[in-house]
This record gives sequence, C-alpha cells and structure tokens, in this order.
Amino acid sequence: MPAESLKRKRLRMPEVLSLLKLEYPDSKCSLNYNSPFQLLVATVLSAQCTDERVNKVVVPLFEKYPTPEDFTHLTIAEIGKEIYSTGFYNNKAKSIKGLSHALVDEYGGEVPGTMDALVKLPGVGRKTANVVLGNIFDVPGVVVDTHVTRITNLLGFTKSKNAVVIERELEKIIEEKDWTLFTHLIIDHGRAICVANRPNCTECSISSFCPSST
Ligand code: SF4
Repeated sequence: MPAESLKRKRLRMPEVLSLLKLEYPDSKCSLNYNSPFQLLVATVLSAQCTDERVNKVVVPLFEKYPTPEDFTHLTIAEIGKEIYSTGFYNNKAKSIKGLSHALVDEYGGEVPGTMDALVKLPGVGRKTANVVLGNIFDVPGVVVDTHVTRITNLLGFTKSKNAVVIERELEKIIEEKDWTLFTHLIIDHGRAICVANRPNCTECSISSFCPSST
C-alpha cells in the first residue's frame, strides 16, 4: 500500500480528534499535584510506572515535602525509600534531588517555563518538559509516552518508535491548540479501549479511521 500523504493525514486527524473529544470530554492529566514542582516530580516518577501508582505515592510524599527546598534536605536514600514502589527508585531519587537543588539554586525554587530550561534539569527529558509546559504554562506540546507511541502507530500516523520523531510528525498533522489535549485523549483511549496487546476494535469509536482495525 502506498504511504499516506501528509495532506491525507491532516484530513484524517481532525476526524479522529473530534470523536475522541466526544468520547472523553473530561480528558486531562491524571497525575495528582498542587504546584508546578509537584507535577514535575510526579512526571519523573511516572516513568515506567502507572499514574495510579504514582498518585498513591505522591499524596503522602507531598504532604511531608511539598517544595523543592524540602527535597534538598533529604538524602537520595531517604527519597528512594519514599518512592520505592514506583520502580527505578534510585535513579528517580537522584533526579528529584538534583532537580530540586537546581530549582533552588538557579530559579529561586520556581519551575522555569521553557523547554530549553526544563530539559537542562537533572532527569528531565522532552516528555516530562512537555507535560509541565502543556499543563502548567499552556505551552502546547505533544507528549509521547507508551500509549501515544503504540496507538499513533496503529492509527498509521507514524511508523516510528522514536519519541522525538513521533512528536515532530504529530506536530505536523495536529493543530497546535490541540497538542496537549491529544496526548490526554490518546492515553484515555489506551486505557479504556485500545489496550496494549488486546485492542477492543469492535468497541472503538475511531475504528473507521484506523487502518489496524480488526
Ligand atoms: S480500531 Fe483497534 S487498533 Fe485502531 S485505535 Fe481502535 S482499538 Fe486501537
């Protein structure tokens, strides 16, 4: 089958988006947070972990340690103990301690609102930065996680598994105002219908726009 043109993808994407908006009208970030810093930490913890598990960990964690300054007083081992159940706790603890120090030392304890500044923080990549930019600073960004990678491949909007490539390709076919919402919608769809390894195509509202529909 010939590759679908960019023009055709640009026509198909709005149809997919409007159906997903109807199906998930309250779609939003599912992490618990009360400040930009807390969203940053929750997003770091969400790597290789479910948001549900992260939320169980961050509620007591942020009650005890709500600010970056609080984390600068903890050892990596102490942070690791608190976040143990999210997995990869040693690396995550190092990132949280490192980024807390950087925020206190360089930004007066505030989270900066640019991609360039965010990705310089320890343990913060484009995915985490886009979560913070989109949900805190209203800077649109496509967050490419496992759901977005899997489902955009199934939908034929990309053939890549590389997050940066996918982000660039999606930015060309989604209106900028929808970049952040697109991620939330796809994550909701990935949890409810297009589940990994067992997509429920017969119940899928976007099946007529999906080349992988069975
Ligand atoms: S039709 Fe099937 S494969 Fe395509 S998005 Fe829906 S559930 Fe996923």
